[in-house]
Amino acid sequence: MKKIGFLTTTLMILMFSNSFAQDGLKIYISVDMEGIAGAVTGEQLSPGGFEYQRFREFTTAETLAAVNAAFEAGATEIVVSDSHGNGQNLLIEQFPENVKIIRSWPRKLGMMQGLEDGGFDGAIYIGYHSSTNYMSGVRAHTKSSADITGLKLNGKIAGESYFNAAIAGEFGVPIIMISGDEAAVTEAQDHIGDIEGATVKWAYSFHSAKSLSPAASRKLIAEKTKAAIARIDDFKVLKLEGPITMDMSFKNYRVSEVLSYLPQFDRIDSHTIRYVGSDMIDISTVATFITGYSLELSP
Ligand SMILES: [Zn+2]
Repeated sequence: MKKIGFLTTTLMILMFSNSFAQDGLKIYISVDMEGIAGAVTGEQLSPGGFEYQRFREFTTAETLAAVNAAFEAGATEIVVSDSHGNGQNLLIEQFPENVKIIRSWPRKLGMMQGLEDGGFDGAIYIGYHSSTNYMSGVRAHTKSSADITGLKLNGKIAGESYFNAAIAGEFGVPIIMISGDEAAVTEAQDHIGDIEGATVKWAYSFHSAKSLSPAASRKLIAEKTKAAIARIDDFKVLKLEGPITMDMSFKNYRVSEVLSYLPQFDRIDSHTIRYVGSDMIDISTVATFITGYSLELSP
C-alpha cells in the first residue's frame, strides 16, 4: 500500500509539473520604496537625498530576493514595475535576462502597468507603505503625500495596496504577497485578504522605525514569496463591479474647485471630487490624469 501510495503521489507530482511547465507561471512585481528595510525619510527616497543611491541598491536587492525566490518556486516569467518616485530607481543591469522591467511615467495603470498584457497568475508588492488614511506607518500616504489627503473606492478607504489590488482584479490577478512596514502589511491584509506578508520594519512615527537589516529583510521576502507561490490557488481576486465611485480629497481645494468645472466630476465637499467610472482601468486612467496633468511638457 505504501509503495502504491508513493507511486501515485510521484505520478501526480509529475503530471502536475508537466501541466505547470506547459502553462507557465507568470508573476508580476510592483516595487515601491517607502517600505524597504531601513528607509525612514526622504534622504533614502529621492535623488537629492544623501542615502538615495545606496537605497536604490537595497530596493533592487529586495526585489531580486522576490524575483529569485519566485523563479526557484516555479515562476517561468516575471515582470517588474519600478513604481516609486521617478520610476527609475531599480538598477536594471542587476536583473536576470528573463525579467522585464517597466520604468517611468505616466502610465494609465500606474503602479500596475503591464498587467494588461495578460496571463499573470499572481502579483507581489515590494516596499509598500500604508495609506494616508491609516493611523501609522513610515511615510504613510496615498499616491501623493504632498497633494492627496484621502482616496476611496465605492466608499471604502483605498490605499495604494487596495487600489492596485482592484486594478489587478480587473485582469483576474490576485495579490499574493506584500513586503513593507507592519502598518502596510496589516492594512493590506485587512483590506485585501489573507495574503502573505513580509514585515521588514515597525514604525514609531511617520519618519522613524525599528528595521530589519537588509540581509534579514531579503531572507524574509524570499521565504514569503515562496510561501505565497506554494499556495497560489488560495488567493482571492479583488474584482470591483462597475460602476465604481472614486472620491479623491486634496490638500489644496483649488484642485477640487477647478476639476469641478468638468462635467465628469462632482465636487462633494470643499476638498473632494467624485468620479464614477465603468471599471478600474477607467478609474486608474482618470486618477493618473488628475495626479499627473501639468501644462508643462517636462519633466
Ligand atoms: Zn513610493
